[in-house]
Amino acid sequence: MAFITLNKNHFFHNLDIITKRTCGKDKIALVLKDNAYGHGLIEVAQMAKEYGITKAVVRSCDEAKKVADFFEYILVLADTPRESSNAVGTASKIRYTINDLKQIKKFPKGTKVELKVNTAMNRNGIEIEELEAAFERIDKQGLELEGIFTHHSSADEQNSIYDLQNSNFERLKERATSLAKRYNFEPLRFHSSNSAALFRGDDFRDDMARVGIAAYGCLELENNSNAAKLKPILSVYAKKLSTRNLKAGECVGYSATYKAQKNCTLSNYDFGYGDGFLRSCSNNYITPEGVNIAGRISMDNSSFLSDKEELLIFDDARVAAKFAGTISYEMLTALKPNLKRSVLG
Ligand SMILES: *Cc1c(COP(=O)(O)O)cnc(C)c1O
Repeated sequence: MAFITLNKNHFFHNLDIITKRTCGKDKIALVLKDNAYGHGLIEVAQMAKEYGITKAVVRSCDEAKKVADFFEYILVLADTPRESSNAVGTASKIRYTINDLKQIKKFPKGTKVELKVNTAMNRNGIEIEELEAAFERIDKQGLELEGIFTHHSSADEQNSIYDLQNSNFERLKERATSLAKRYNFEPLRFHSSNSAALFRGDDFRDDMARVGIAAYGCLELENNSNAAKLKPILSVYAKKLSTRNLKAGECVGYSATYKAQKNCTLSNYDFGYGDGFLRSCSNNYITPEGVNIAGRISMDNSSFLSDKEELLIFDDARVAAKFAGTISYEMLTALKPNLKRSVLG
């Protein structure tokens, strides 16, 4: 079976760089959604705990429960709890995101919540003008408001929306702080930065940063010397299933889209789009060791001009993503959970 290795030294190196930017491990909330960006939820949670990370961000209640033993604080981005977080143990570590005013009445009394506010991305979150109404409803519902946050749409681009969102958030902090006093929700936790925002600015002022792609070493930020020091931690290898000698003119794979220009050795490897090898890499992909793909990627197979037993498919999702015309995030999250992951180092 194709398999994945995770480089713990690189992960810790990235976390060292991130810790310098947040001024403390306790201000890092490691984003583990979507199977830790394809790296493996439990594998990454284990390494993060060993490093001393105490906060995590996930998408669902199920993910939160799976990593509850590894962290003190877990923020769920998009799910509604089945039980109140007043419950002891695991449930008390979990905080839930309010993405919309109407959602407030769905939370059981006593649930710990954080309020997401729209500062110009226009995806999730209440409007700034709805802040007071949100506090009132949260109070009435008997929820415990712990934090206020927003998300950037353009932190990795030169774009004035980034500054607009920052100034909206700073304004909102003041109003929220006075509302928190009135409703007895003090102190509130404020956070707005994803990886790009954390690396881009030199004025990190929040209580926490939600860091995903930088921890996995694949943040792309032009002319940023700190981002340039990050190291990808994930490598994918495929195993050879068969080898043949191909004669000039013979074709390979579905629809015969590859034709050998000369006699060559071809092997078929056990990594296909069913495992997460994006099909748009068909015919144009070249591995980090310079091995060319031949023909279309099929569900469980892909063919390369190689006879190696184990073939490194990629060790930098940023580079691999370019072949597929996408971003590292998609290249990584495409990797199926059933691929075996092992931690090196
Ligand atoms: C995914 C996500 C992040 C992490 O973003 P990166 O660019 O990977 O650092 C942070 N906050 C929210 C709300 C997210 O959905």
